[in-house]
Amino acid sequence: MASISIKNMNISYNKGKSYVLKDMNLEIKDGEFCVFLGPSGCGKSTAMYSVAGLLHPTQGEIYFGDTLMTAVNEKGKDKVFIPPQERNIAMVFQEYALYPNMTVRKNLSFALETKKAPKAEIEKRVTAMSKMLGLDELLDRKPAQLSGGQRQRVALGRALVRDPQVFLLDEPLGNLDAKLRDQVRYELKKIQTQLGITTVYVTHDQTEAMTMADHIVLLNGGNIMQEGTPDDLYNRPNCMFVASFVGTPQINMINCKVEKGPNGLLFVSPEMILDVPSDIEESVNNYVGREVVLGLRPSELLMVPDGKGQINGDVESVEPLGDGFIVYFNVNGKMIVSKIAGGNTKIGNKLSVNIEPGKMHVFDAQTEKRIN
Ligand code: ADP
Ligand code: MG
Repeated sequence: MASISIKNMNISYNKGKSYVLKDMNLEIKDGEFCVFLGPSGCGKSTAMYSVAGLLHPTQGEIYFGDTLMTAVNEKGKDKVFIPPQERNIAMVFQEYALYPNMTVRKNLSFALETKKAPKAEIEKRVTAMSKMLGLDELLDRKPAQLSGGQRQRVALGRALVRDPQVFLLDEPLGNLDAKLRDQVRYELKKIQTQLGITTVYVTHDQTEAMTMADHIVLLNGGNIMQEGTPDDLYNRPNCMFVASFVGTPQINMINCKVEKGPNGLLFVSPEMILDVPSDIEESVNNYVGREVVLGLRPSELLMVPDGKGQINGDVESVEPLGDGFIVYFNVNGKMIVSKIAGGNTKIGNKLSVNIEPGKMHVFDAQTEKRIN
């Protein structure tokens, strides 16, 4: 097992004209489940491939534990470059290819046999891995006789049976349908925890990141926007991009001006006026007369009796979730989304909500950075 350190890593193409990753610094702890999250094209796979040794960075260093895997000199030439097959990594991609003519057992054991591991050891590892992944019954089948989810589990098993020090996955669940994705996600997380193997998992899907990660690295345009636990990113997004990318339905963003009212500070937008709560008054005080953006998460708007809330509007659309509703309501022309657990509402009703105390996210409208 190993920690992973990335130091001052740059990756650019066209002689430095287009940067894919800019001065990336990252510490992934030993045994951690780290997710590289971000929109398509932000550099997630590029970052992962450089950890794998499939890519040579333009600048920077990568360590596994204390061992230097990649180091580039000032001229952009390799000082150190351990090839992928010597990094003791395992990789799983969306387009995983099992060996079609081999049984599940053979698919699992093949890499160990190539490495000339002792027979008893191979047997032991294959048995343990197939038990862990629920593949015992399937060992004599060929890939064509398996469902998509079973095949994906074989792909995971085949990668993990080699006991790698680092496990790298690039959008591995993309081909599975929603139900299977939930199931494999759960199993993957369970196995990763049991094995305690340092894992880097690439996805554009914030739900996958939120449910599996110990550590999320949210990238955009080759920059790390924020890293931290799922809780950090959800509850303390450091900028508007992070606030919008994490959480579903998306956070409501309301452009306001901070004004002094008779009883304290106010957020004033064309559609609504809200009191600035006392716990954030101090940070908002610097913004009197200036524009801010107020972020309100749909699940942090709590339904209250009609007309009694801080925000009041007319319900325009209701999406039942089974255990609640997503309600779109019109507040003087601004559409606000709320996720309501209990209660009942329908199109044409009035809706009143209060903002859960301590849950206002306030951003500088110019810099888009968090201010509270
Ligand atoms: P992600 O995995 O986040 O979707 P990638 O890491 O695959 O994104 O790619 C990041 C960016 O780098 C993209 O804009 C892509 O077009 C660019 N890129 C990747 N490989 C090359 C290359 N060989 N030459 C030039 N640009 C590249
Ligand atoms: Mg990718």
